[in-house]
Amino acid sequence: MKYINIHTHESSGNPAVLDVVNQYPSSFEQTDNYFSIGIHPWYINAETWKQELNVIEEKLQLKNCLALGECGLDKRRETPIEFQLEVFEAQLLLAEKYQKPVIIHCVAAFQEVIATKIKLKISVPMVIHGFSKSQELAAQLLKNDFYISFGKYLIKNPELKSVFEIMPNNRFFLETDTIQEGIEEVYDLAAKYKNIDVVTLQQIVTKNFKTVFKDGRMDGTL
Ligand SMILES: [Zn+2]
Repeated sequence: MKYINIHTHESSGNPAVLDVVNQYPSSFEQTDNYFSIGIHPWYINAETWKQELNVIEEKLQLKNCLALGECGLDKRRETPIEFQLEVFEAQLLLAEKYQKPVIIHCVAAFQEVIATKIKLKISVPMVIHGFSKSQELAAQLLKNDFYISFGKYLIKNPELKSVFEIMPNNRFFLETDTIQEGIEEVYDLAAKYKNIDVVTLQQIVTKNFKTVFKDGRMDGTL
């Protein structure tokens, strides 16, 4: 069984790990490995975003491009939320066109993300990455068919234990994003919180991965 890491900014280079490495359209690096690609709300550029959208559209058609993202909304940033929404919506429509799931960065804008999903009738899976909020918000996201990915805050914030414990097994993922710790450490802690062994946890995440992130090459590495 592999350790599946659905969101990282750097390949681990470890054969025991399956990484989905985040890429930006403005600095795309050719790869045979799995990646996701999207315009991050921190890096929206009014001059270039439409051109970046073309790059995303082109890369989404590659079989090893497993998702669109990270993209989303961040109310703690200066870019006006209306402009962030325009860029987010354009990306969601591309994900829908190419039937790829979406990895979402969301800060202080969860109600807007949920409303956008409903408004655009997005049918592809949407994964909130780096979740750090309450049980109530997690429940609302689950009710609206989101998946939730845990990593950094699972390790850094002990209060998140109570949120992770109640996550249904078919609705979560694990990730490292930019933390120093390896994905193995995230799995160790997550297995402890769920009171199961790591292999069982790997089986759960692998099943979710196969459901959400369809590998166009079906190479059987799992
Ligand atoms: Zn990230």
